[in-house]
Amino acid sequence: MEVLKFGGTSVSNATAISRVLDIVDGARSRGKVVLVSSAVSGCTDALIAMSKADAREREKAAKAILERHYAIASRLFTGKERRDVFQVLLDTCKDLLDANPDDYQTFGELFSTRIIAAKLHCDGVGALWVDSRDLIRVRKGKVDKEVSYKKIREAIKVHPEVEVFVVPGFIASDERGHVCTLGRGGSDYSAALFAAALGADDLQIWTDVPGIMTTNPKDVRTARTIPQISYDAAFLLAAHGAKVLYAPSVQPAMESELEMHILDTFHPDLPGTVVKALPRSAHGAWVGIACEKLEDESRLCLVADGPVEPQAVSDLRSRLGRANIVPRDIFPEGDDHIIVVLAPGDEVEALRTCHYICFETEDSVDVYLAGEGKVGSALLDIISKTDNRINVRLVSRHESEDGEFFEKMMAEASGKSVFVDCTDSETIYKWYVPVLEAGINVVSSNRRALSVPYAEFALMKRTARRMRRFLRYETTVGAALPILDSINMSANSSDEILSIEAVVSCTLNYILTSGLPFAEALSRAQEIGLTEKDPSMDLGGKDAVRKLLILAREAGVPLEESDVEVEPVDGSKADGSQRFVASIEKDLSQPKGYRASIRLKTVSPDDPAWNVRGTDNMISIRSAFHPSPLLIQGAGEGARMAASSVLNDILR
Ligand code: ASP
Ligand code: MG
Repeated sequence: MEVLKFGGTSVSNATAISRVLDIVDGARSRGKVVLVSSAVSGCTDALIAMSKADAREREKAAKAILERHYAIASRLFTGKERRDVFQVLLDTCKDLLDANPDDYQTFGELFSTRIIAAKLHCDGVGALWVDSRDLIRVRKGKVDKEVSYKKIREAIKVHPEVEVFVVPGFIASDERGHVCTLGRGGSDYSAALFAAALGADDLQIWTDVPGIMTTNPKDVRTARTIPQISYDAAFLLAAHGAKVLYAPSVQPAMESELEMHILDTFHPDLPGTVVKALPRSAHGAWVGIACEKLEDESRLCLVADGPVEPQAVSDLRSRLGRANIVPRDIFPEGDDHIIVVLAPGDEVEALRTCHYICFETEDSVDVYLAGEGKVGSALLDIISKTDNRINVRLVSRHESEDGEFFEKMMAEASGKSVFVDCTDSETIYKWYVPVLEAGINVVSSNRRALSVPYAEFALMKRTARRMRRFLRYETTVGAALPILDSINMSANSSDEILSIEAVVSCTLNYILTSGLPFAEALSRAQEIGLTEKDPSMDLGGKDAVRKLLILAREAGVPLEESDVEVEPVDGSKADGSQRFVASIEKDLSQPKGYRASIRLKTVSPDDPAWNVRGTDNMISIRSAFHPSPLLIQGAGEGARMAASSVLNDILR
């Protein structure tokens, strides 16, 4: 059982609701789902305004609210289904006009969830709308957990056939059985109560930002996602004004030891934030800053993951002073958080300065990732588990989205951003130059992008140099082996490269050294995912040509595909004493000064290539000033390894 809660922006129009349904589909494949939804964004505010208006204005307001939901429904439904949903919405609107104005605000979630439940039903999903007003009970202004949990469990238990329970968030009923709310932002709390009552496997809060961030990204552009945070710190941030999470929702999750995942509906592939039990650190490091605007003052709350240094308050005061910010007061509220009180209007400037002091250290970078195949997803996984320096800001899975992805990135990226290309797209390289020109660094594991015609490659390199940005692509040859770097070092130290011999085709190497008949070895290589999507790319030497172009260009040779002599592999003649070798060799009779070839070479035990087995790669570089060749050998395959090499390119 998973509990998924969607905020107002996530259900604010038909397109957003379709995204929600995709996410729910994913969860449904794992088991039962409780879907808790907020009201459509702006609706609760409109209802509160309506309750304060006079009778004529009220009718108009109700009509506007109804129209907004009709507009959503008319894009999601057709024919009879549309008429049925319209009727349900109309009935809800009549109930609204009949209700006590104090209760108007409880109607937003009724509208939104009825649309969602109807849509699931039309799609053939076993969905049931559940009235949370009957289940969540409030006594003396507080949720009575004992009673509420029992009612929730019973309501779910009697419907074993249902796949998705659709629950309006925010609303409950009081001891008189009268409808009430859980407070503004309360749908998060509804979701946490359901998850705790049901012992859910997962509690996901889907919102419109990529998780809990170091501060509100609308105020501070360099804010970044916090990969994991303790219940206490999340509570403090929420209680002091961070809108991403409703503070009371933390407690039920903590009591039931349930992890909360805060995720972005609009970028479902981003790792988001996990709220969970974390040990307090002995020397508190800053986690995040919340900002709260009160009537006659503003307050920042700086939260750490353990006790902060005794001099933290005076340090902060003097650093703010240097930025000409004079707070009304600064004081520690507990040992792990500090409150800064400001005159109204001063908060954004102070927030930026505090954020800079706490988080914008030298080594933090923003990453924009394209491509979520094996390497891309391994990279996301490594980052979310281990690396706090990296903030993943945007992920594009589909090439069709590239335009939108790039526009957005170029509009928002800061100078420390890196665009990471983990696709195998042939055309994406066209973006490299504009991206570099926008001041964004580029890291690529996509060898198609670097083996384009030399003029285009050279333009990328020149642009990177001119913009003082890096373009790194170590992973494109020999995965994590430091091959390109080594060539670069020789080539840049006025050494002269005499030859490069490279055994860099994992597929062919595997086939040649497997001891199996050719055809059998090939299908085994395909099975274990070694080959390119089209294995003829490997056998015909196309993939090796790409690698050789990259190698040669790194050594300063402007090699083109047409310069390479390729002898394709003849399966019937291949045997274990052969290696598939890509090489360039100094030869002044050639137009570019080097002969480039790709062929099967018969090797003897004293050839370094002899020892290369399976998916290992090997490269030997001979240069004028080094009497014996530089040999680099090691694993040439593996998504996790390639991802860590990409990470190294991002950070070094
Ligand atoms: N719709 C309610 C509000 O705007 C509850 C929520 O969205 O969580 O406060
Ligand atoms: Mg909210």
